[in-house]
Amino acid sequence: MGELTTSIQFLPGVGPRRSALLTRELGVQTLGDLIRIYPFRYIDRSRIYKIADLRADMTGVQILATVLRVEMPGSKRLSVWVGDGSGELELVFFSGIKWNVERLQKGRRFLFYGKPAEFGGRLNMVHPEVDAAPEGGEEPQGSLTGVYPSTEKLKNGGVTGKVMCRLMASALALCLPEIEETLPEYVLRDNGLVPLRYALYNIHFPKDQYALQKASMRLKFDELFLLQLSLLRQKFVKSRSGTGIPLPKVGEPFNACYRALPYDLTGAQKRVVREIRGDLKSGVQMNRLLQGDVGSGKTMVAVLSCLIANGNGYQACIMAPTEVLAHQHYINISKYVAPTGVRVELLTGSTTAAARREIHAALEDGSLGILVGTHALLEEGVRFRALALAVIDEQHRFGVDQRAKLWSKGAGGLPPHVLVMTATPIPRTLAMTLYGDLDVSVIDEMPPGRKPVKSMLIGPSKRPALYSFMRREIAAGRQVFVVYPLIFESEKLDLQNLQNGFEEIVKAFPLPEYKVAIVHGQQSVEEKHFNMDAFVAGRADILVSTTVIEVGVDVPNASVMVIESAQRFGLSQLHQLRGRVGRGAEKSYCIFVADHKTSRDARQRLELMCSTEDGFVIAEEDMKMRGPGDLEGTQQSGLPISLNIASLARDGLLLQQARAYALKVLDADPALEQARNALLVAELRKGKYDIKDYSKIS
Ligand code: ADP
Ligand code: MG
Repeated sequence: MGELTTSIQFLPGVGPRRSALLTRELGVQTLGDLIRIYPFRYIDRSRIYKIADLRADMTGVQILATVLRVEMPGSKRLSVWVGDGSGELELVFFSGIKWNVERLQKGRRFLFYGKPAEFGGRLNMVHPEVDAAPEGGEEPQGSLTGVYPSTEKLKNGGVTGKVMCRLMASALALCLPEIEETLPEYVLRDNGLVPLRYALYNIHFPKDQYALQKASMRLKFDELFLLQLSLLRQKFVKSRSGTGIPLPKVGEPFNACYRALPYDLTGAQKRVVREIRGDLKSGVQMNRLLQGDVGSGKTMVAVLSCLIANGNGYQACIMAPTEVLAHQHYINISKYVAPTGVRVELLTGSTTAAARREIHAALEDGSLGILVGTHALLEEGVRFRALALAVIDEQHRFGVDQRAKLWSKGAGGLPPHVLVMTATPIPRTLAMTLYGDLDVSVIDEMPPGRKPVKSMLIGPSKRPALYSFMRREIAAGRQVFVVYPLIFESEKLDLQNLQNGFEEIVKAFPLPEYKVAIVHGQQSVEEKHFNMDAFVAGRADILVSTTVIEVGVDVPNASVMVIESAQRFGLSQLHQLRGRVGRGAEKSYCIFVADHKTSRDARQRLELMCSTEDGFVIAEEDMKMRGPGDLEGTQQSGLPISLNIASLARDGLLLQQARAYALKVLDADPALEQARNALLVAELRKGKYDIKDYSKIS
C-alpha cells in the first residue's frame, strides 16, 4: 500500500543523489510522479535501416554496422567509423571516450541507435546508443521503446534513456495494482476509452502500435476533458452571478465619433463592437478577450467601447504595458475622440506632480472621461468618480494582483467591465476552447489597403546591398526600422550590442543627409519620447531600437523593417515586429538578417516567416515546432496551462470531442452532484486544471 506516494529514492538503482537529480530536473518525487512522465516518442526497434538510406530529417533510427576504424582528432572528440555494406557513417562521442574506445573495437558489430545529423555537408550521428548485435545474424525481435524527456544533467548523472526505462518498469510493477480509475464507467464507455491501468502500462511499454494509440488517446482525453470540464463549470457558475454596471444606451459621444471616422469600420470591427455593445447593456459584467492581429484595428474598437461608457455617464480607462505605448495610444485616441468633446488624459510614472493633481481632481469630479496610462493607473490616489470600463492592452504583462486593484475601482462597488486586447494570435480553433470561461472576439479581417509585406532572409555579407536598398527607400521618402535582439543576459552587454549596431548605421547613413534615432530601455522617458516622436513625425529616417517598438507603435510611413540576429527571436515576436510595417500605402519590406551560425531550426522558423503573414498560421506552426519533450515548450508558449501529454496544437479533434462531451455531462448535471460524477469532482478538486492566468480576469 501507499506505493504511489513512496519516494523514488527507494527504487532499486536510485539513491539519494539520483533522487535529488530527478526531483530537480523533472519535478519527480514519488513513484506516482515518475509513472506520469511519459515518453515523447518511441523507437521502433523492429526496424533496421541501411546507412545509405539515412537522412538528416529522420528523428531516430537503428543501424546494424561494423566498426571500421577509430580516430581521435582531439582529446575531447572520438570519431568511430562504421559500415554496413551500403555505406559508411561517422559516430561522434564527446564524453565517455575511454569506455567507448574499449568496447567499440575494430571489426566488431553493434546495433547503433541515434539521430542522423548533417555536419560539414556529411551525415554523422552524435552519441548513439550502443547495443550488442543480435546473435547469429537473426533479425532483432524488438517492439516500441519509449524515449523520455531528458536533460544534460540527467544524462551526466547516469540517468540515461535505458536507466529511465528500467526505473519505469520497477515503478510500474509496484504502482499499477494501486492505480484507481479516474473517469466514471459511463464516460469510458461513451468515448471508447481503455481503463487507466491499461493506458499507463502501455504508454510506457506498448505491446504494439494499436495498444500505444489506445493508451495515448485515453491519457490525452483525460487531460482535455477535465480541462474543459473545469473551464466550462466556472463559466456555468459565473453567468449566474457576475452582476455588472448596466450601460443601456449607445450615447451621443459614440455617435459623434462614428460619424467623424475617416474610414468605414471593417466588417469584423463592426461585429466585435456589436458583441461588446451587447455585453455592456446586459447587466452582467463583461469579461471579453479581443484578439486581433497586429494592425487589425483594435484601438478603434477600444475607443468606441469607452465612448459607450461615457455616453451612459460613466468613465473608462485604457492601460498599456509601456510608457511609449501609452503615449502613442494617448495621441491616437485623442484624435479619434476630439469630435465628441470627451476629455482624455494621460497618466504614467513620469507625469508631473502638478499634472497628476489636476488629473486626480478631474477623475473625482467626473469631468475626465477616458484615462490612458500605464501601471500608474493602479495607484492608490487614482480614484474614479464612476469607472465602468477598463481596457487592457496586451494583458499578459499585468499581474493578477494588479488587476484586482483595478477591479476595486469600479463604480458603486461593482467591478468594471473588462476588455482585454491581445495581438498574440492563439490558433483560431483553440481560443474558444482554451479560454472557456472568457468570451472571445476575434477581428479576423484587416483594414483595406494593407499591402502584403515582402519578406526575405539574408546573411550578413549582404549588408552592403541592404544599405543601398535602405538608401533608395529613404530617398523615396520612406522610413526604416532596425531592430536588435536582447542577446546577453546583462542589460549592459545588450546595450553595447545595440550601440555598436547604431554606430555602424550612423557611419553608413551620415548626417546631414540622414537622421538616425535610437530607442532602448535604459533611456530616460524624455529621451525615449524625444526619439520616438522624431521618428513618428518623420524627422528621423531610421529608428534603431531593441524590441520596445514591438507592440503598438504606428508609423504608416515606415516601409522597411530590418531585424538583426533574427535567429534569436521567437516566431510570434518576429510576427509582431513585421506588423509594424505595411500599414501605409507603399510597398513594404521585412528583412531578416541571420548569420552563418544559425541552426537549422532557426532557419526553418525564418523561412516560415518568409512564406506567410498569417498570424494564426504562424502561431500554429510555432506550437508544432516546439516539439513535445522540449521541457520548456509549454512555459514558453505563453499558454496559461501546461498539459502533460495532450497538445493543443496537434490534438484539435480530440479537444473538440472532449469539449462537446464535457458540455453534455454538465448539461445533464450542472453542479456535478450526481453519484456517477463523484470521480470527476474528486479529480477537479486536485486543482491541476485550474487556469491560473486568464481566468483571473474577473
Ligand atoms: P492594432 O490592432 O494593431 O492595435 P490599430 O488599432 O493600431 O491596430 O490600427 C492599425 C492602423 O489601421 C491604424 O493606423 C488605424 O488608424 C488603421 N485603421 C483601423 N481601422 C481601420 C479601418 N476600418 N479602415 C482603415 N484603417 C483602419
Ligand atoms: Mg494596438
